[in-house]
Amino acid sequence: MVASTVAELLVQRPLGLVFDIDGTLSPIAPTPGEAQLYSGVGELLTRAKQHAHIAIITGRAVLDGARMVNVDGLTYIGTHGLEQADGLPPQAQVQLLPEAQEYREAGTYLLDLVEQEKLPGCLVERKSVGGTIHYRLAPDPEQMRQRILSLLREPAQRVHMQLSEGKRAIEVRVPLHINKGHALRSFVQRYKLQGVLFAGDDRTDIDALLEIERLHDEGIKAVGVAVQHADTLAELLAHADIVVQKVEGMVELLRTIVEELEKTA
Ligand SMILES: [Mg+2]
Repeated sequence: MVASTVAELLVQRPLGLVFDIDGTLSPIAPTPGEAQLYSGVGELLTRAKQHAHIAIITGRAVLDGARMVNVDGLTYIGTHGLEQADGLPPQAQVQLLPEAQEYREAGTYLLDLVEQEKLPGCLVERKSVGGTIHYRLAPDPEQMRQRILSLLREPAQRVHMQLSEGKRAIEVRVPLHINKGHALRSFVQRYKLQGVLFAGDDRTDIDALLEIERLHDEGIKAVGVAVQHADTLAELLAHADIVVQKVEGMVELLRTIVEELEKTA
């Protein structure tokens, strides 16, 4: 049995299923490079794409997110909506939003500043524009967070880049009003979706859950899922229709969805 909200969603066509990666389809690992999809997720997405349009919306670069998920025929949206590929690169071309091009240099400059400091336990992940500084492995992560923020605050302002925060990570982002919510809406509009589910676990996913609420108000069957971990923000949970426990709970829900789609096909 599936909850009534999900059951009503799954009969809509066109249907869309949209997922974050880290903490949603893949357990959080000590470094982003070590993270892997939870066992069986690739197969479930392959089955699900027979019945629904599927998008992955991640803070990772498109190339990185697509490499991790590695299922062809999905829409991969990276860097919170800045870049996108329909299918797996390199066959599928990665498209960067044109208005983001001019910030490439500023992003590189700020990440260079961090690397030059040789901060212990910090990893710099570079993206098409900007990137992410991971400080999970720093000896004192909270102190490191402060140190990175004070290092970057003034230079970021000067070159018109924005800083935002995720779990033990600081992101260097373009000052464009782009987020997972906009990416989700574009995906819905592109395929004229009548039903859509979004699942995520972190601060940047709140924008997408807020967009799910707006889409719902506009008459689209829209369902928001929060994946709860020990440190999940109350705000994320507050905007979700369904809360699942950890990646295991998310994969369980995905399995239920796929089985239901196959049953009613
Ligand atoms: Mg996440």
